[in-house]
Amino acid sequence: MSASTPGGDAEKISKPVPVPDESSREFFEGARQGRLMIQRCLACKNYRFLARARCDVCRSPEFAWEAASGKASIVSYVTMHQRYHAGFFDELPYPLAVVELEEGPRLVTSLVGVEEVTLKAGMPMKVVFREVDEGVFLPKFTPA
Ligand SMILES: [Zn+2]
Repeated sequence: MSASTPGGDAEKISKPVPVPDESSREFFEGARQGRLMIQRCLACKNYRFLARARCDVCRSPEFAWEAASGKASIVSYVTMHQRYHAGFFDELPYPLAVVELEEGPRLVTSLVGVEEVTLKAGMPMKVVFREVDEGVFLPKFTPA
């Protein structure tokens, strides 16, 4: 067995994969079907992401899941160079961003199909889905 050296022939280390639970099952099922599901308060109509039991605005526990448009814009972005988890070493450097959905919520996401030099705050983006493990899809964003 060889020494464990980044970029060497050591056994590949897997990325962490999200495990849906009761509060996120609808989100991950939607992602599997190519839909970005977010919660909407039935009392005040506020959209929210991540999923949670009560509305941030009015504290109502009543909500429904809705498919977001998938349209968003970049609020901020960085290029990741840090070696935090061995499962991502092969992809360094890679872009990460905070995007604001057309519906309002912001989410941290990875970007695909972008060149760092072209990224700008306010840049229009659209959601795409990538399978990160068997049957587990995550939303990513790419230029619209
Ligand atoms: Zn509300």
